[in-house]
Amino acid sequence: MPVTAVSGSASGIGAAVCQALRAAGHRIIGIDRADAEVIADLSSAAGRQAAIDAVLEHSDGVLDGLVCCAGVGSSAVSDVIIAVNYFGVTELLDGLADALAKGDRPAAVVIGSIAATHINPEQQPMIAAMLAGNEVQALEQATAQGQSHVAYASSKYAVTSTARSKAVAWARQGIRLNVVAPGAVETPLHQTSLNDPRFAKAVREFVAPLGRAGNPEEIAEVVAFLQSPQASFVHGTVMFVDGGMDAMVRPTRF
Ligand code: NAD
Repeated sequence: MPVTAVSGSASGIGAAVCQALRAAGHRIIGIDRADAEVIADLSSAAGRQAAIDAVLEHSDGVLDGLVCCAGVGSSAVSDVIIAVNYFGVTELLDGLADALAKGDRPAAVVIGSIAATHINPEQQPMIAAMLAGNEVQALEQATAQGQSHVAYASSKYAVTSTARSKAVAWARQGIRLNVVAPGAVETPLHQTSLNDPRFAKAVREFVAPLGRAGNPEEIAEVVAFLQSPQASFVHGTVMFVDGGMDAMVRPTRF
């Protein structure tokens, strides 16, 4: 039975991923702030290390899968967005890589976002700080920049970029690593954005060509595929699962 750790397992996309992977026969080690096998706060270095230690204990140091879903949306405070969405993912990837290398046909997925394509990375110094692994500077720059939706898009650009950069090294260890980039998906995070007067209009009006938001199960099915042996040659890719939003916004870029 494959053993897979899933962060953000208590809600939304993460909960749907747990359900889909359980249906595919996985044993799940959920990581979240509550209602999970591993209770941890991924916004701090200490919380991330506690999560890694607990996952290693639950898995006896051998993991077949890792799915990083935990995240906060644009309504959160900028520095928390960077801490959870970037460092809460990359430190889990780094801390669990050796356990994955010992697994059976191991694979990992990072949940990015279509928002990663909505900013110019060269104009956001917080991105260079994230990519350099400098959390103090990245948090300071995000706070100074002042717009939480820019921090969100920057965190998703940086985490996508880091995941793709790791793909070559991880392949040598036999671990596949992919990014799933959802568009709008009906979850508590999405509802929080719809309830936020700063973002409600933009979120409401940004409708996918398929004419609706997705549901968490539609993202989870793609994650389950990427984690399966059927995806054995899919590695280092960014898969948009967005009802056509990316094709609508950037038809000539891929
Ligand atoms: P959600 O709020 O339903 O679930 C997020 C989960 O992450 C929650 O269970 C929450 O407790 C957990 N989490 C947040 N901060 C944490 C912390 N500090 N430590 C541990 N766990 C923490 O949201 P969702 O929409 O399912 O989001 C899942 C992922 O999908 C996120 O990375 C989000 O950025 C991404 N995403 C969502 C959408 C969307 O429209 N819903 C679109 C694109 C990308």
